[in-house]
Amino acid sequence: MSRAGGFLDGDPEVASLLASELERQRTTIQLIASENFTSPAVLAASASVLTNKYAEGYPGRRYYGGNEVADEVEDLARRRACALFGADHANVQPHAGASANLAAYQALLQPGDTILAMRLDQGGHLTHGSPVSVTGATYRFVAYGVTPAAPDGSGERIDLDQLRELARRERPQLIVAGATAYTRQIDPRPFREIADEVGARLMFDVAHPAGLIAAGVHPSPVGIADVVTFTTHKTLRGPRGGAILCGEELAKKIDAAVFPGLQGGPLEHTIAAKAVAFGEAARPEFKAYGARILENAAALAERLAEEGFRLVAGGTENHTVLVDLRDFDPDLPGKAAQEVLDRAGITCNRNQIPYDPRSPFVTSGLRLGTPAETTAGMGQAEMAQVASLLARALRERADEEALAKVRAEVRELCAAFDPYPGALPGVTPGGADVGLAEGRGERA
Ligand SMILES: *Cc1c(COP(=O)(O)O)cnc(C)c1O
Repeated sequence: MSRAGGFLDGDPEVASLLASELERQRTTIQLIASENFTSPAVLAASASVLTNKYAEGYPGRRYYGGNEVADEVEDLARRRACALFGADHANVQPHAGASANLAAYQALLQPGDTILAMRLDQGGHLTHGSPVSVTGATYRFVAYGVTPAAPDGSGERIDLDQLRELARRERPQLIVAGATAYTRQIDPRPFREIADEVGARLMFDVAHPAGLIAAGVHPSPVGIADVVTFTTHKTLRGPRGGAILCGEELAKKIDAAVFPGLQGGPLEHTIAAKAVAFGEAARPEFKAYGARILENAAALAERLAEEGFRLVAGGTENHTVLVDLRDFDPDLPGKAAQEVLDRAGITCNRNQIPYDPRSPFVTSGLRLGTPAETTAGMGQAEMAQVASLLARALRERADEEALAKVRAEVRELCAAFDPYPGALPGVTPGGADVGLAEGRGERA
C-alpha cells in the first residue's frame, strides 16, 4: 500500500509504482554520491498546490496575476540561499544543475568563446563541454585534468600547473571549477589567481559539495568565484533542482539568462521545497550532518582499502570514494560490478577513473557516496560493514547462494536505518502528514 494518504487510490498503477520505489529506497543501500533522502517537509512542499501556479518573471515583476504568494515563497528561498552561503544574489529558478550551468554560460559568454573545464573522463560533468551536450556544441572547451596516479596516493589531483599553462596559452573567457567525480576538496583560490592572471571569469560548479559548504566542512567559493552554480538535491538534501549565486554586478545578467533566456515558468512548488531545504541546512544539526558525511566517507574508504581496493587519489576528503577495481580483480569492470551490487541490494554507479583504459559505458571504477545513508542514520561502524558487504558480493559474485546471503544482510541493515520511518506526505499537503519532522536522520 502506498503511504500517500489515499490520494492515489484512483490510480492504482501509479500508486503501486510509487510504493515499489519507496520500498526499493527503504530496503537497499543507497551509495550513489549524488543522491540523498529529503525530509518529509521537503516532500510536502514539492507536492503542494504551488505546482498549479504560473509565475514567469521574478518576485514583483511577474507576467501573470495572482502571484502574491509565489512572490513571497521565491523571495524567502532567495533570502535563505543568500544567508546560507553568504551571497549577494541568488537565482533559485533553474530546473536542474544542468540548467543552472547553461544559464551561467549564457550570462557570461558569447557562442564560440573559450572555456577551461575539467576533463569529463577525470571527473568533469557533461555540461563542462561534452561533445554530446549543447555546451560542447556552443562553446570552445579546452580540458584540464588530474596528475597521474602515484603509489603513495598523492597523485590524481587537479593539475594546477597544467591549468595555468592552458590558461596562458588559450586565454579563455571563463574557467570552470568543480567536478562530479573528484574525491578531494577543491580550493577556489588558485583558480581565482589563474583566472585573474589571464583576465577570465571564474565559475564554480558546486553541484556535489553544496551541502558540505553549507555545513562548513568544505571550502566555499562564494565571494571568490564570479558565479557559483549548484544542485539542491545532492549533499544539500533538498528537492531536485538547481540554483545560482553571484555578486550584485552580475545579478541582472544571470536572472535574464535563466528567464527569459532558457526557461519559461519557474517550478514554484520546487522553489518552496528549496526554501525548506535552505532552512534545514541553516540549522546546527546540519553542520553535524555534514561532519558525519565526511567521517562516514573516510570509514568507508578505510575498509574498502583493507578489502583490497585501490582508491583514486588515495582516499577521500569529501562525501565520495572513487574505487579502482583493477587491483581487486582485473577482470571485473565497473559495469559488471554495478550489476552484481544491484542484485545484492547495494546501489551505486560505475564510473571512469582517471586515465581509464575502459570506455565510459564499461569503466574500471565505481563511485560511492555517503550523503544518503548518513541521512538515514548510518555511522562509521555501518560504513565499514557496507564496505565488507560490497567486497563480499563482488568476490562471491558467481555463487548465487552467497549473493542471496549478502542481500539478506543488506535488508537487515536497512531495516535498522529506515530513511522514512514515519508517515509520508501524500500528493497534497494534509495527506497523512502526521509526525513528519520526527524520527529521522539524527540517530547516529
Ligand atoms: C550533478 C551535476 C550537475 C547537473 O545536475 P542535474 O541536476 O543532473 O542537471 C552539474 N554539474 C555537476 C558537477 C554535477 O555533479
